Amino acid sequence: MKSIKETSNTLFVLLKKHTPLLIVTHENPDGDAIGAVFGLKAFLNYHSLSSTVLLNTSLPLAYENLISKEEYENLANPGDLSEYKGIVVLDSANISRTVLKEFTSSSKNTAIFNIDHHVSNDLFGDYNWVEPWWSSTCEGLVRLLKGEQVLPKETAKLFLMGILTDTGYLTFSAAGPDTLEIVTHLFKIGASISEIHRAVKENMNKNQLKLWGYAIYNCQYEDEYGIIWSAIPNQVYSTLQVKEGDSEGLVEFFRRYRNCRLALLFREVEPSKLRVSLRSKGEVDVNTLASIWGGGGHPRAAGFTVSGEVSTVLNEILNIIKGKIGVWNH
Ligand code: 5GP
Ligand code: MN
Repeated sequence: MKSIKETSNTLFVLLKKHTPLLIVTHENPDGDAIGAVFGLKAFLNYHSLSSTVLLNTSLPLAYENLISKEEYENLANPGDLSEYKGIVVLDSANISRTVLKEFTSSSKNTAIFNIDHHVSNDLFGDYNWVEPWWSSTCEGLVRLLKGEQVLPKETAKLFLMGILTDTGYLTFSAAGPDTLEIVTHLFKIGASISEIHRAVKENMNKNQLKLWGYAIYNCQYEDEYGIIWSAIPNQVYSTLQVKEGDSEGLVEFFRRYRNCRLALLFREVEPSKLRVSLRSKGEVDVNTLASIWGGGGHPRAAGFTVSGEVSTVLNEILNIIKGKIGVWNH
């Protein structure tokens, strides 16, 4: 493992040398992960380079209309990967959050390309393009690929989708002038913000609306600490037949509360398996908080997974967080 960052813009040349390629991302992929994976696949198709996308889950409802099931393989355990000369890992801070899990680049005769924007990325690849200043992995991919070669319209659309979903449709502070330049570039190729908003955000089904309603109706406020949180028990997920990825955007909703300093969403996605999402309005570094439980992410958006009964684990976690951030003097 090289554990160093690539500085040169040689991605396209390297990918060409390593076909056929496998493309993977983190478990429970969000808009940035999905945009990155399928945008890159469309780019490689356009340039006649062979690639396969491997996921360990079906896609969240919001993306089902955009990407057909024929576009990817859905396997929990990939098995032998020696037929691939290169594996591109997108939007993943480490290999253990991907379908590859046990795979290490040194143990196989396959080059790993690590392209990501998480500050906690451990540079697991043979080639690492990791820049925390990118708003999203999709922004990074545009920067790495927009040289001589054409970005086809399908790629532009999917990369714009990743940028928009990771920046709250350009409302988060991570979306600065550099990001807007990239957005303009994609816009000129034919990608449209309003079309993506309609396809992804204005596409909830009834059960998703009920899931959001449940979480919002049952939210709790701890104004002394500036914390707003909500917990969704597993029974709600099974009754409504929604998946973890179907609540993308929900934790961000709680930032709307005027006394929100830190928003937390606890989701019992499987019995006794709790996914925790954290969002900060600025001052609290949630990447550091999530790392207490082995998770990570970004300073203002992070997550982790713990096992245990919701009723006990939840209070334990809240107490530790309150101890770390202290009361809110604003
Ligand atoms: P979410 O709360 O939407 O699942 O994740 C927010 C951000 O934190 C995303 O960038 C996501 O990749 C990252 N993240 C979430 N869970 C984990 C985790 O368990 N480990 C690491 N390293 N990052 C995570
Ligand atoms: Mn991302």
